[in-house]
Amino acid sequence: MPELVFFSGTMDCGKSTLALQIEHNRSSRGLQGMIYSRNDRAGRGKLSSRLGLVTEAVEAADDLDFYAHLIGHLSSGGRVDYVIVDEAQFLAPEQIDQLARVVDDLELDVFAFGITTDFRSKLFPGSQRLVELADRIEVLQVEALCWCGARATHNARTVDGRMVVEGAQVVVGDVVGDVDSPQAEVGYEVLCRRHHRRRQTSATARAAALSPDVLPVDGAK
Ligand SMILES: [Zn+2]
Repeated sequence: MPELVFFSGTMDCGKSTLALQIEHNRSSRGLQGMIYSRNDRAGRGKLSSRLGLVTEAVEAADDLDFYAHLIGHLSSGGRVDYVIVDEAQFLAPEQIDQLARVVDDLELDVFAFGITTDFRSKLFPGSQRLVELADRIEVLQVEALCWCGARATHNARTVDGRMVVEGAQVVVGDVVGDVDSPQAEVGYEVLCRRHHRRRQTSATARAAALSPDVLPVDGAK
């Protein structure tokens, strides 16, 4: 039976690496995949991992209808044996419904990879719909670690090293500048829940350690 599988985890949990591994395993057995990604760090139309591997992909823009796109490909003589979707957290809920239809009506396996929650520890809409519809959810076990050494379960957005909890849900990482502060460096860091609640990033923890006379600035209870 074909399945909609949601491989979920934090940032840095190795999900794009696993997506590329699945692609490699299947294509080396002569199977033909359709690969989609969105807002990949390597640019439009790419699926890349932090380990440096990259492959071509179809950019899953807002207006992409997965079902219609695959029907179009198949009816023009193309072959598809399975579907991989990376950065699925960025998809609209309706697009996840389309993926479920691809599984049920086209009888293709769909492997969706995504971050579960955003920097405010709220579910991304695409991930929420995947949790609701997936036949199976796999929580990736490649453990990302917080700076304290504990298992990192939460994603933090940082501006110049300090954790922020407000702003647009989607700001692609490794970019410089945002609306409020054009020179600021926006980044992401994975943290354990304790340090996410206390808003302590590696940079603020280091700064606190270097100035023992300054008590940690910490609004957490
Ligand atoms: Zn921690």
